[in-house]
Amino acid sequence: MITRFAPSPTGHLHLGHLYAALFARDLAAIHGGRFLLRYEDIDVTRVRETYFTQTEDDLHWAGLEWEPSTLRQTSRMTFYQDAMEKLKTLGVVYPCFCSRKDIQRELDNLTRAPHGPDGPHYPGTCKHLTPDQVAANIATGSEPSWRLDSDKSQALTGELSFSDSRLGKQSVIHRLLGDVVLARKDIGTSYHIAVVVDDAFQNISDVTRGKDLLESTHIHRILQSLLDLPQPRYHHHDLVCDSRGKRLAKRDNALSIKQLRADGWTLTMLQKHISEHCS
Ligand code: GLU
Repeated sequence: MITRFAPSPTGHLHLGHLYAALFARDLAAIHGGRFLLRYEDIDVTRVRETYFTQTEDDLHWAGLEWEPSTLRQTSRMTFYQDAMEKLKTLGVVYPCFCSRKDIQRELDNLTRAPHGPDGPHYPGTCKHLTPDQVAANIATGSEPSWRLDSDKSQALTGELSFSDSRLGKQSVIHRLLGDVVLARKDIGTSYHIAVVVDDAFQNISDVTRGKDLLESTHIHRILQSLLDLPQPRYHHHDLVCDSRGKRLAKRDNALSIKQLRADGWTLTMLQKHISEHCS
């Protein structure tokens, strides 16, 4: 068994991250397996060097040990490009020139837009551009993002499923998140591509992650099938919530482990707090 904790160094770790890290470490430990640390640092617009150091400091403080070969996803960009090339060859992705504003405008004009758990799906504006229209857009200097064509991917892979330790067998719903972006225009890749490529590269046997990412796992399973990658087992765990029952998030300035440590919290106190605020 090989598990990993895969934080994005775009902020300080909070209690939710600590829970995720302990969950992955404990699962490996129970089975005499290996535990890895991987930095999901592809969003270079938000990553700060200081968060790498602080993350390791917090994890060491919490008694976590991982194998010395810590992976940074920014060192693996060519592999993500290779994966995108393969998807282009398969014809299951299409270039999209829409800005956020364009998409919003288009959605405002629709009477019924399909919705998923993350909000309205991409309305498909660029889905049927002709090669000439694509070339004309590129000639104006617009860099496209690339989206999964969920209809074509479904036709190609047929029925898929994955297995979750608590939920059991899950049938993949190809259109659950609509035609998601697989390569952002600014960074040329996405969380979805990087995570499946690296879980395979690192031989991760068991992916542990918060249940807020359950929908993303449907996309990952599709990508594994298209890219001929092995499928790991999945464990979508509970989330740590604040006193009002809302999931902790970096953007809400959830209390950082750094701050809690400075305020005198011990690991045992944090673990007790986590167990009381997990759902
Ligand atoms: N990097 C993701 C996060 O910080 C987790 C990735 C994953 O477990 O797939 O939420």
